[in-house]
Amino acid sequence: MLDLQELLDRLVLENRFWCHQGKTAAYIPELSKQDPALLGISACDIHGRIWNAGDWQKPFTIQSISKVVSFICVLQDNSFDALTSKISVAPSSDGFNSIVNLETKNEHRPLNPMINSGAIAAISLVRGATLEEKFQRIFSMIKIMAHNDDLLVNQAVYLSEKRTGDRNRALAYFMKSTGGIDVEVDELLDVYFRLCSVEAACPDIARMAAVLACDGKSPWTGASLFAIKTARIVKAVMTTCGMYDGSGEFAVDVGMPGKSGVGGGIMAVSPRRLGIAVLGPALDQKGNSLAGWKMLQRLSGELDLQIF
Ligand code: GLN
Repeated sequence: MLDLQELLDRLVLENRFWCHQGKTAAYIPELSKQDPALLGISACDIHGRIWNAGDWQKPFTIQSISKVVSFICVLQDNSFDALTSKISVAPSSDGFNSIVNLETKNEHRPLNPMINSGAIAAISLVRGATLEEKFQRIFSMIKIMAHNDDLLVNQAVYLSEKRTGDRNRALAYFMKSTGGIDVEVDELLDVYFRLCSVEAACPDIARMAAVLACDGKSPWTGASLFAIKTARIVKAVMTTCGMYDGSGEFAVDVGMPGKSGVGGGIMAVSPRRLGIAVLGPALDQKGNSLAGWKMLQRLSGELDLQIF
């Protein structure tokens, strides 16, 4: 029988080469300080058992992996039809922070909730009388899914993003001008930047993925954290949009619902089998972890995790 621990250790060893082919995110100054040589992986099964290898203990900011949880919350709080009148679920062939489609395509609606414009709009639609309440709702769901109440926002990364986040401001002001969002832009972005700056390690993200692998049920208590239908929609949209304009290649190479963040993390879901997380801060041109992608590709091949 295949020994999962032995496999994960081997994947880390065999893929270190790729850490030197990519670059840490430079547009958020604090992220450019990350060590590109880090490489870690965790896998959590549907009973909550976990296996780790490499730099799995290293904390990093989850960045766009938070978009998965914002999407879960917004689906819980709105009907799908009401939601898609504001945000579509269509793949994008442009970068995650592209502004061009907001003006030229799709009647000014963001193409999907996995890119920045869509995630910013999604947060505004999450239940909560104030933006702070919306933040707390999404942040608590992150902590519940990660099965870790101690997660915190990394203040240095948050302040770095806030200082340099003019592209996100441009996206949000554009959406406000077209009626896509109707809340105060600075406060909304503050929530977005804080969610991106939540710090976690591979096991936390593998546990979050395991909840999706269990269709919204907690592997620890069996409690339903969100509806099966929500889990299905989220996994479908992760598959088609989770790696931005790299989603098609990821589907071919890895064949699992995935979501990356520019902190170097990727969350992947093997339905009814495993939740997986990788860390590798050296990114490819599209903002996806290069070595992380390669490890997932190998893991998927060795364990036959392709869903297609
Ligand atoms: N905080 C990042 C940004 O807004 C998130 C992007 C990402 O992880 N791809 O640009």
